[in-house]
Amino acid sequence: RSALVWFRRDLRSHDHAALYHALRRFDRVHCAFVFDTEILDALPSRCDRRVEFIWRSLQELDTALDALSRRAGGGGAGIVVRHGRADALIPALAAQLGVTAVLTNRDYEPAAIARDRRVAEGLAAAGIGFEDFKDQVIFERDEILTQGGQPYSVFTPYRNAWLKKLDGFYVQAYPVERYAAQLAPKAHGERVPGLDELGFTATNLAELRLPTGMSGGRALFGDFTGRIGRYREARDYPAVKGVSYLSAHLRFGTVSIRELAAFAWADGGAGAECWLGELVWRDFYHMILWHHPRVVTGCFRPEYERIAWDAAPELFAAWCEGRTGYPLVDAAMRQLHSTGYMHNRLRMVVSSFLTKDLGIDWRCGERHFADHLLDYDLAANNGGWQWAASTGCDAQPYFRIFNPVTQSARFDAEGRFIRRYVPELARVPDKHIHAPWKMGAAEQAAAGVRLGRDYPAPVVDHALARERTLARFAVVRS
Ligand code: FAD
Repeated sequence: RSALVWFRRDLRSHDHAALYHALRRFDRVHCAFVFDTEILDALPSRCDRRVEFIWRSLQELDTALDALSRRAGGGGAGIVVRHGRADALIPALAAQLGVTAVLTNRDYEPAAIARDRRVAEGLAAAGIGFEDFKDQVIFERDEILTQGGQPYSVFTPYRNAWLKKLDGFYVQAYPVERYAAQLAPKAHGERVPGLDELGFTATNLAELRLPTGMSGGRALFGDFTGRIGRYREARDYPAVKGVSYLSAHLRFGTVSIRELAAFAWADGGAGAECWLGELVWRDFYHMILWHHPRVVTGCFRPEYERIAWDAAPELFAAWCEGRTGYPLVDAAMRQLHSTGYMHNRLRMVVSSFLTKDLGIDWRCGERHFADHLLDYDLAANNGGWQWAASTGCDAQPYFRIFNPVTQSARFDAEGRFIRRYVPELARVPDKHIHAPWKMGAAEQAAAGVRLGRDYPAPVVDHALARERTLARFAVVRS
């Protein structure tokens, strides 16, 4: 009896739920990945860091599976990579290989759930089984419920229940290596197609300090374990190396969430506890998405649908392109475009700025992030945007509005981050770096920048924008 393991956002050969279950129960286990044209064709460009990240990670996975099989006494293995529609290719490949079942790790996004249903139907028609497993989160779906048996909609009580339920069982690694001799060899001539064969070109990924694949995830995590004790104090400062930078690896499963959570849980220090809380946010938003798939297009709190947002294409373009005149906002947006990453504090600042200063619908910003983030994750991104727009899961009152200048002075006091991404402000003195429009002509000349020519004047006045937002949101209360 043989099985096919279909890899998706779990590009690793260790601690892998579906792979473990397949190896334990079947004599021969094939591995496959599909570059799904349904996803690829919807990407904004044919030069996409995510495609390259996956592609590089697959090459490492292919080699790792081979080594794993040989170490266990098998004859070598690898991953079969296909390009086309997954809902057609997976049933076809399963039939061609003559497997009894396809095993995969569960996805919680509505489009993925619908695709998996189509795959399961295609397989069932050929008498082939389909099974999915929890792998990408610690607790999923209905595992954490209120005492009344309802899903949580507020984070803090969810986190408390999550932490209470956590024990060694939930973070235990799946010992894939123990059964790896059952991995099936790849057919002669099977190889990972080139990026160009997929219709994509190389990005600047190789120049970024973001190593890909399992080895990249391991290196970043190793580096972070030495800094985790300072996480609580350092995590809010974008110019400081305070966070883990593991989000893309968590997105593509080149690291195991169980390994990360187990480490933080065992460490138990204040920094590790704080970081574990971030991993709980990740589970929380996946749980919200699974229970409320309507959040993909609509406000979590339906009464916020009454808000009339502004259609302001020029302001939106200024935000996207990092030329709002607010240095921290612009630096953050430029970081997004040049690296595919944005620090969490800055995601909060720019999303608040778009929705509360520019009055633009959170869905526009969410889409822009979806197009550009290397770590783009529907659940976390939607949750983050709705939190910022005050339309989502948040215990705070509805009128929280970040002040972009105060945030800048607090979290990038010396303007180190700003100067890195907005070089035209490099010589602006610290006291003006957060609000350069306050410089007089002589000061501008001394700093080598003329406002309105070398760097934009602010596109909105924050105090006025704040008043407009309070009026805009009043409709929710009426
Ligand atoms: P660390 O601080 O080291 O955190 C570790 C991990 O915890 C992260 O990798 C991530 O998996 C998880 N995590 C941390 N914060 C959150 C959070 N608020 N919600 C859910 N998970 C979290 N995160 C994404 O992974 N993908 C997104 O598309 C995404 N979009 C966002 C949009 C907005 C508007 C906001 C405010 C936040 C968004 N986040 C998103 C959450 C957070 O900003 C990133 O996870 C974090 O910046 C990634 O950097 P890191 O891995 O160094 O984080």
